[in-house]
Amino acid sequence: MRYVSTRGMVEPFDFAHDRPKGFSEILLEGLAPDGGLYVPEEYPQVSQDELNRMRKMAYPELAFAILSKFIDDIPSADLKRMVEATYTEETFGSTDIVPIKKLEANLYLLDLCQGPTLAFKDIALQLLGRLFEQTLAKEDRQLNILGATSGDTGSAAEYSMRGRRGIRVFMLSPLDRMSDFQRKQMYTLQDKNIFNIAIRGTFDDCQDIVKAVNEDAEFKKMYKLGAVNSINWARIAAQIVYYFWGYFGSTKLTTSRATNSNEEQVSFAVPTGNFGNILAGYIAKQMGLPVRHLILATNENNVLEEFFRTGTYRPRKGSEVAATSSPSMDISKASNFERYIFDVVERDPKRMTELWQGLKEKGSFAITSSEFGRVKASGFVAGSSTHTDRVATIRAIYEKYHVLIDPHTADGVTTGLSYREKSASRRIPLVCLETAQPAKFAATIHEAIGRNPELPNDFKKLTDLPERFEVLDANPQAIKEFIAAA
Ligand SMILES: *Cc1c(COP(=O)(O)O)cnc(C)c1O
Repeated sequence: MRYVSTRGMVEPFDFAHDRPKGFSEILLEGLAPDGGLYVPEEYPQVSQDELNRMRKMAYPELAFAILSKFIDDIPSADLKRMVEATYTEETFGSTDIVPIKKLEANLYLLDLCQGPTLAFKDIALQLLGRLFEQTLAKEDRQLNILGATSGDTGSAAEYSMRGRRGIRVFMLSPLDRMSDFQRKQMYTLQDKNIFNIAIRGTFDDCQDIVKAVNEDAEFKKMYKLGAVNSINWARIAAQIVYYFWGYFGSTKLTTSRATNSNEEQVSFAVPTGNFGNILAGYIAKQMGLPVRHLILATNENNVLEEFFRTGTYRPRKGSEVAATSSPSMDISKASNFERYIFDVVERDPKRMTELWQGLKEKGSFAITSSEFGRVKASGFVAGSSTHTDRVATIRAIYEKYHVLIDPHTADGVTTGLSYREKSASRRIPLVCLETAQPAKFAATIHEAIGRNPELPNDFKKLTDLPERFEVLDANPQAIKEFIAAA
């Protein structure tokens, strides 16, 4: 399996830079040298026989079977060992790893949030930590990860890299602007390779510092700076696995009676921000998984819903991004979207360059009607919801099924159910991806059901643990000095 850039490969190309690369080569890279994103040269296909075999697999076995198709330059035994060490009951709470919960006939929640930070990013990041460690060790390299968080996603990166050899994490967060829960989750980590830095300023200040430090090319090279951002291909690959798992879990009963057991289609509802999670679902469908609809759900920040409705992609300015009660979906642009558009334009890199040039100049682009036809044919439908919708959905699901969902999941369920109502038949299983545990978002839960969510046992313990963090001014120079001295 080789990887190409969404913007490169326009002949004549610079072979040293633009040649297709192996998985290990792109693992630690962010953008491709031409500014594009890496995608597989082609999507591997899964046959009916293979689907039948996969249906019987445990999660780690399934993960290995699927990831092997995308990763062929790490020795098989090593990959297997890393996958098995990642997807354990100890880390994800049960041998299912991703439990599927039935709400009623043909309505399911796929629980992606049993990992150490109670949100779906753990599924990919827990594996990423091991992949990074192994690849760095082989090349005798080191990496300093510099990131910024408003509180919801930084912890997943820290928990994936804690204790890993050759890796240090410097995570900036705004001082006194996180919830107790968020602060405890990050600041109680005692690992020597994790550095929590509370910045006297806002989240935007933190992001600006990361940008400024990265712009100092010399410093970046000298201190081997890197990131674990959502465009990392390995994260997408690891997320493909649970679409297969969710498919098998939701078709288990009916298909045992069917002659062709994988004929049945399933729809997935996915709360979306950077288009990483749902892109993995799209790729699963391209591989041959019988997916009917990919139901894309946004909150008030509806950049993507607008695209699927109109064919125009218009990222928002920072000042246009609303702070909502599903904060991990508050995005200005969808960083993984380019990978999907690459297919929409039939992988024409010239057209990609043209679109992204237009984006830079005019702040938006519109695709042609034939391109929009391919969008319509690719299985996506989209909707957006508001805070009022989220609260109403959390309450309704709680009252009807006695299941408490978080505000992000509620965005997905709101849009998912509205499509289910519209479709003539309810016989197609709808699987709603559950992306965080309600305990992380107590205020919204309280608003919906009149009381706070239960804290998971492991987290009650955090309350008494000492916190370990540094406080620094919102000044790039101070951060550079800190990294240099650490
Ligand atoms: C990151 C995140 C999302 C959005 O996922 P994308 O891959 O960015 O689309 C949704 N819900 C939660 C809880 C998240 O942390």
